[in-house]
Amino acid sequence: MANIFEDATSRLTEILSHLTVSDDIRERLSHPKLALSVSIPVRMDNGKLKVFKGYRVQFDDTRGPCKGGIRFHPHVNLDEVTTLSFWMTIKCAVVGLPFGGAKGGVIVDAKSLSNLELERLSRGYIRAIADVIGPKRDIPAPDMYTNATIMGWMADEYSQIVRQQAPGVITGKPVHLNGSLGRKSATGRGALFTLDQWIKSQNLKPKKLEIAVQGFGNAGYHFAKLAHEAGYKIVAISDSEGGVYAKSGLDPDLIMQHKLSRRQLKADLYCDATVCEDPGYEVLSNQKLLELDVDILALAAKENQITKTNAANINARNIIEIANGPVSSAADSILEAKSINVIPDVLCNAGGVTVSYFEWVQNRAGFYWDEEEVNQRLKTIMDRESNLIFDMANEKNISLRTAAYLHAVKRIAGAIGERGTHEFFQNKLIA
Ligand code: GLU
Repeated sequence: MANIFEDATSRLTEILSHLTVSDDIRERLSHPKLALSVSIPVRMDNGKLKVFKGYRVQFDDTRGPCKGGIRFHPHVNLDEVTTLSFWMTIKCAVVGLPFGGAKGGVIVDAKSLSNLELERLSRGYIRAIADVIGPKRDIPAPDMYTNATIMGWMADEYSQIVRQQAPGVITGKPVHLNGSLGRKSATGRGALFTLDQWIKSQNLKPKKLEIAVQGFGNAGYHFAKLAHEAGYKIVAISDSEGGVYAKSGLDPDLIMQHKLSRRQLKADLYCDATVCEDPGYEVLSNQKLLELDVDILALAAKENQITKTNAANINARNIIEIANGPVSSAADSILEAKSINVIPDVLCNAGGVTVSYFEWVQNRAGFYWDEEEVNQRLKTIMDRESNLIFDMANEKNISLRTAAYLHAVKRIAGAIGERGTHEFFQNKLIA
């Protein structure tokens, strides 16, 4: 398979072919602005020193400070972090936030660390990248295997380095440490707002629709819980170990309670139990969950879950990408040929970064909103941008992903263009 960044930029080339824009835009969006690679020494509990490898990539800051999460995972690599920073650039533009895109990562099996080791690693990572981040420069946030507790440590470390309070340097912090109400559920909630608008545009009713959810982390859990409360029928849920199925419907909260009752939880985040130990339901593999004949397949686990190898076996009528990059570009065309609608990640999971934006605004103003206001503002943005994209896809007869990218690229190209392009500099400014 092509590397993931090549895959992402090949999609961009295809998308730009639908738009009359200067070649400068493609050239500009094909290279990250900055890619920092760092070594993070951590004193382990057994007294030994271990050095972890980390990255921070700032892809583009034409529209504002860079924004994007930090993931802790054994498979993190520079190519993946660069791609994720590119997707963040597109995502922030899709929902019209005044941010560019960035991403960070550390190569680590975070589940194997003690809480104290995890804190030392989180603070060490911030010391290593402190020179390139800041509330007006680059604002990290949570991503896979990082959470509010970790963001709290990181924000605290940064404020010690700069010797002043700087809560706007990181979002997704705990509510008592200048975080925003509603941030924790924001990715799942935003995905549901988008799904609701999509269902409405198709003249369907939530009550009759069956959903299978792959991934039961923060985004997958909140999406499943809120969708269940809104009347959709959640028939399957899986985590990295496998899944459960019930034709009559599952209650995501009961499954989470059962999972947590058997867990070893670290840093309020890593749980070593799995949903498939739940005795009440039929057990099924992740692969089988992906192939279920359901109305909506929600992909909330990780990238590259549907590729050209399994795309032909997918039976869902609609896919919503709550994780980043769960459908490869080769799979996209197979799904399109099967008339499966894919609501793309850059729209569907943008609720997280949108409430991160609200957190940053609240931090900078020093004025905090109640949860209802956060959720209402999120709904306004997700509903508006979703419908603009659905209408564009309909009018131009293009996929929802192509429409979302076009919608974003127009904003980015506008910003790049206003600073002058090849075509502009060829002409005289004052005739
Ligand atoms: N990691 C999340 C994402 O991929 C959130 C980023 C943010 O809040 O800055 O969208």
